[in-house]
Amino acid sequence: MSVVTRFAPSPTGYLHIGGARTALYSWLYARKHGGRFVLRIEDTDRERSTDEAVQAILDAMHWLDLEHDGEIYYQTQRFDRYAEVIDWLLAEGWAYRCYSSAEEVEAMREAARARGEKPKYDGTWRPMPGKTLPEPPEGVDPVIRFATPLEGTTVIPDLVKGEIAIANTELDDLIIARADGTPTYNFCVVVDDMDMGITHVIRGDDHVNNTPRQINILKALIGEDGELPYYAHVPMILGPDGKRLSKRHGAVGVMTFREQGFLPSALLNYLVRLGWAHGDQEIFTREEMIEHFDIANVQGGASTFDPEKLLWVNQEHIKAAEPMDLANELAWHLARHGIEGVDAHRLAKIAAVQQARCKTMAEMAEQSLFLFREVDEYAPKAVKKHIKTATPDLLAQVHDGLAKLDAWEEEAVAATVREVAESNEVGMGKVAQPIRIALTGGPVSPSIDDTLVLLGRETTLARLDAAVSAFRELKAD
Ligand code: GLU
Repeated sequence: MSVVTRFAPSPTGYLHIGGARTALYSWLYARKHGGRFVLRIEDTDRERSTDEAVQAILDAMHWLDLEHDGEIYYQTQRFDRYAEVIDWLLAEGWAYRCYSSAEEVEAMREAARARGEKPKYDGTWRPMPGKTLPEPPEGVDPVIRFATPLEGTTVIPDLVKGEIAIANTELDDLIIARADGTPTYNFCVVVDDMDMGITHVIRGDDHVNNTPRQINILKALIGEDGELPYYAHVPMILGPDGKRLSKRHGAVGVMTFREQGFLPSALLNYLVRLGWAHGDQEIFTREEMIEHFDIANVQGGASTFDPEKLLWVNQEHIKAAEPMDLANELAWHLARHGIEGVDAHRLAKIAAVQQARCKTMAEMAEQSLFLFREVDEYAPKAVKKHIKTATPDLLAQVHDGLAKLDAWEEEAVAATVREVAESNEVGMGKVAQPIRIALTGGPVSPSIDDTLVLLGRETTLARLDAAVSAFRELKAD
């Protein structure tokens, strides 16, 4: 059997990390088994679905690089197909027209409750052998209901939760088309999963109640002996307070994590481990995830979102990355500061210097801004602490020493700075910190040689020059 999984988001908002994890598990399972990963946009709820939300989901999937196979399906483009299947179900006696009004159905449910039974539609319009149906009322458009089997048990073959059995008497005769003819959600999912040949339905366990209903419709379509897909209902992600993760807990939208400086590989790594483990390994590349992931090892209990751990995983991914692989994300973050068009090789050089120092890509961009922006202010606290009367002179010597260098590379610039410290018989700090302030405006930057090399000869010399004058004036005050 060739594996086909799907991710089927409803485009009613951004892609949140619970959805991203479901998408990841589906994608991983397909990739692991050399199968297909289908992306299907469940946009039948036209009031709540928006084009912006579709785009937000596609953007997030693209950023996470969870690429789907084949075309993207949109349920709103499949209404003809749903109508065809409804006609077939009607013709085969699996579905029937129901003219009961909403008030009547509510009364039926109320009556069932009063009898201590599960509130359900009472089957007034359901054809039964020997039963005479009421006369359809004038001018009423019927809904279409699925004739749920009246006996027997529906078993969900669930790879995460184990087999779940539900008595069919618990289940209602589900509406599969509304009075205006539009098909309903649970019905469309079944037709789609069937048509798209889905072998493994991996989704959030908030859908587990839908599954027996969907299985019954599917069995009507493929026959009692037809092969059902496997299901894997993945538990919810909870916030640190034990409640279902939501906006209240801070960031939950995938792209907000991008803004905060997480790498897609780190977010995926963190998400794969929420509810799944491979020994005690914490850090996984995409390849390792594909190699080791198994949906059957996903745990049935809910998992708790831990922002601290996510940050740690991110830092590990930044540290381990090939600098060139960080260039794209660094460029994106710099662009948020208005810095664009930086060459990828330069970005990789910056990333190589900064990757050991930063927990997030947002931090890396911020700490690299000095490379692209003029120094228009020297941090007063740092000035007070590090700029002494002798400083302008020392910086002037550094400037002159550097200006004579033939090659602008780490060893040579570091040696020049060292020589100035030695010949003036002062510690390195007395020279290095003022250089930092001169070049970046503040006391924090990568090592002096890295800072100078990244900044380049021309900018370094110009900034040193400017600082010599500025600090002289300052000390003369
Ligand atoms: N569209 C549903 C959702 O976004 C998912 C349905 C499914 O996976 O079957 O919750």
